[in-house]
Amino acid sequence: MSLIVQKYGGSSVSSVEKIEHIAKRISKIKNEGNDLVIVVSAMGDTTDKLLELAFKLNPDPPKRERDMLLSSGETISSSLLSIALHSIGEEAIAFNGAQGGIITSEVYTKARIQKIEIKNILKELKRGMIVVVAGFQGITLHNNITTLGRGGSDTTAVALAAALKADLCEIYTDVEGIYTADPRIVPEARKLKHISYEDTLELASLGAKVIHLRAIELAKKYKITLHIRSSFTEKEGTIIA
Ligand code: ASP
Ligand code: MG
Repeated sequence: MSLIVQKYGGSSVSSVEKIEHIAKRISKIKNEGNDLVIVVSAMGDTTDKLLELAFKLNPDPPKRERDMLLSSGETISSSLLSIALHSIGEEAIAFNGAQGGIITSEVYTKARIQKIEIKNILKELKRGMIVVVAGFQGITLHNNITTLGRGGSDTTAVALAAALKADLCEIYTDVEGIYTADPRIVPEARKLKHISYEDTLELASLGAKVIHLRAIELAKKYKITLHIRSSFTEKEGTIIA
């Protein structure tokens, strides 16, 4: 039996059908005897849409209030995924970042995770629950909701994998792994089987949107092996180690 942290990006939860699809996938892995902590992003382009609304109301929306607003996108995904899991007979519980024990600095819109109080998650895993945590967010010691910067759900997943000493951390996205170039632009781009933390950091700092920079830094620091793969196929993706 393994403890697996899986993160599903916005494109993997962008519709009811896709949420149903990943719920089935999660159920299968759970029934193979694994403990699962799932981290989700907001549905599709929800985060952009929410920001747009804020900027319509105010050319400079206060950052604290922006974080309150944006965190709701991931909270919606976690609740809907848990609801979908229940409908296929699984026991699941949705947590927002605060309930998941994610404590951050007070720097709104780009907070850093300072520690994770894992007792709530552990208690639910022990009861056999699939724990579904809203990515990209946390809470400060003064009870304010923060977000971790755009793309920050990856960082939530890696930080949870480190804190829980997970056996595996899978990052599900809409591409099948990391490529030598952007496969949507360069047709002869090859998928890499393995890549080092250092090379991934370089790709990310050059602007490749493979994975959140901070997530790779954390993975490197805590020696977490990451598997970047697609939620739409069973194919192996890219291992970052
Ligand atoms: N929903 C947030 C964003 O679009 C966080 C994430 O997707 O990881 O940036
Ligand atoms: Mg997103």
